[in-house]
Amino acid sequence: MRYKSLELEPADRPSLESLEIGLTSTCNFRCSFCCAHERNREEQKLSFTVIQHMIEQLPDLKRIKLSGGEVLLYLEDCIQVVDYCRRKGLEVQINSNGSMLNASSISALEQAGLNTLHISLHVESAPQFSEFSGMSSEWYARVLAAIKLAAQSEIECVVETIISQDTKPLLVEVYQLAYELGVRKHEFQYGISVEQEQRRWKQQLKPFDTEQTLWSLIQHKAYDSEMYFTCVDLDPSHPLTPLILRTEGVNFPRCMEGMKQLHIHSNGDILICELGYPKKIGNVLEGTRLDQLYTQMPEALSSFLKHHRCQKYTDHFA
Ligand code: SF4
Repeated sequence: MRYKSLELEPADRPSLESLEIGLTSTCNFRCSFCCAHERNREEQKLSFTVIQHMIEQLPDLKRIKLSGGEVLLYLEDCIQVVDYCRRKGLEVQINSNGSMLNASSISALEQAGLNTLHISLHVESAPQFSEFSGMSSEWYARVLAAIKLAAQSEIECVVETIISQDTKPLLVEVYQLAYELGVRKHEFQYGISVEQEQRRWKQQLKPFDTEQTLWSLIQHKAYDSEMYFTCVDLDPSHPLTPLILRTEGVNFPRCMEGMKQLHIHSNGDILICELGYPKKIGNVLEGTRLDQLYTQMPEALSSFLKHHRCQKYTDHFA
């Protein structure tokens, strides 16, 4: 399966083809834009039995994404899930901050049959890294080493960078750094403001700034690398939009939350999209069956499918 193939195909009816499973919301980093570590401070994680039970309810399932928190804090759990999914013919992606990856963990994941390692990298220097992640700068070298090892492995390695006012001046350098480490697929995730307990991260690009930012970045794309812009809406009236869309190797995955994918949080909550629409529509630990969701159609889900009220629109024009 091609990277993001589910998001690149149009969807005509709701059918769960992908689950994003927050195996844990525990994380060893404290990134300023992330909501996961604030949502759930208890060291909660979903058991293999619960994950297996969810997967067995969904005959259309094609892909599992394990996200957190930092799921590789629980390497053995990840390997068990990857091994099980691969035996069932499902694609598996792990989203990671890279801190727990080394030759031994990458080799174990490779042997289990992991398809994709999706590693975050938002900055291009150790001091910036400390500021962004809330961690000491030594971790920066570890993350870069992990990305290089992952890019050399049999596992597809994708680096992800948030697009925000903070990272905008760094995007080209971060892309080039990842390319030098061997990465040939780079995902840029549109930053979406997240409500947190004590602060509000609000660094979205302004309307009409997105197209210029993307175009400046695309000018540096190497012929043998692919860029994916996730949760990005281009203004059709912007003069750069047709040029951006025509560039080879530049992809705009569609939002498929609620339609083909749901997010399962480590406390069992079923969310429509953890980032842009974190509405709870059930809880797998409290008996909600994923295979009955679309017949029961909770109000929040049907309203989201009708109006697509992602948080990004609320903030973009605020
Ligand atoms: S709901 Fe919003 S944040 Fe979530 S995937 Fe869709 S566009 Fe992105």
